Amino acid sequence: MDRMEAFIRGMPKTDLHMHLEGSLEPEVLIRLGERNKRRLRWKTAQELRAAYEFQDLQSFLDLYYEGCQVLVEEADFYEMTRAYLRAAHAENVIRAEVFLGPQSFTDKGVAIAAVLDSTLEAMDDARAEDGISCGLIVSAQRHRTEQDALDLLEQVRPWFGRILGIGMGGAEKGNPPSKFRRFFRACRREGLRITIHAGEEGPASYVREAVELLGVDRVDHGVACVDDPELMREMAELDIPLTVCPISNLRLKGVPSLSAHPLKKLMDAGLHVTVNSDDPSYFRGYVSDNLVECQRALGLTAEEIVSLVRNGFIAAFIAPAERRAALARLDTYVSGFDWGR
Ligand SMILES: [Zn+2]
Repeated sequence: MDRMEAFIRGMPKTDLHMHLEGSLEPEVLIRLGERNKRRLRWKTAQELRAAYEFQDLQSFLDLYYEGCQVLVEEADFYEMTRAYLRAAHAENVIRAEVFLGPQSFTDKGVAIAAVLDSTLEAMDDARAEDGISCGLIVSAQRHRTEQDALDLLEQVRPWFGRILGIGMGGAEKGNPPSKFRRFFRACRREGLRITIHAGEEGPASYVREAVELLGVDRVDHGVACVDDPELMREMAELDIPLTVCPISNLRLKGVPSLSAHPLKKLMDAGLHVTVNSDDPSYFRGYVSDNLVECQRALGLTAEEIVSLVRNGFIAAFIAPAERRAALARLDTYVSGFDWGR
């Protein structure tokens, strides 16, 4: 490992855009499938790993939703969450904000309390055992109707005080943010923070809708805004954070290579860019891997890497005191790092 890679991997950092369901490593997914007697297309972890070659967002989502079937019991959600937070802690993530989409499970008859309580319990344990700061964003699926999303909001009501907010992911094309105007307005009325995936496969106009119609706190992905200079200026001015996931974009063929990724363009345009993992198991890359690979492909300087990581703490849904402490910890790390020169 060269010094730059060691610097990146050792940095205290955030992961603000990841889906717990996308953190199931193939061995765990196969084991849970057997335990819960769920019939899957793959018999072994090896077969499953070979299936992680995606053509686009939809081909990934098909596998992702099939993988969700193995999550049935409270213990499954607990194990999945605890395992991700352990991996995040090991790569020096000190603040993780994770998505979970209950509709995949409640649809199959799993009680919402089983999903949320066990996930939150695993987060409490990770906090107590490893000292990692973490929070849950409940995610609604955009290929469903707005009424489905509103129903989910009602189901989640008892947990409003224990979650960070509400997000939205899934098949983007044909399901623009404007489809969910009433839903996000209802979330806002409840005082919840809101984020939405936009401009991943969808056009810049979806990012514009997320910002202008929904008034989101963060845009997940948002990379398509690079096609609309006027929108980029507006987003830089509003300082709306983008939770970019470069390896995810690469695996889903949003970009032909990481060197063609617009990350640096977005940074140079003054946008509030953060780097995140999305679905670390399926895309074979945790947040440190994303930073290391982008640094190499785009020739980012150490200062640019620090600014991406700093942006993560500024964009995190944390109290000012925690933010100050995290940024101070980052500064101490950066100034004390031995470059061996
Ligand atoms: Zn995502």
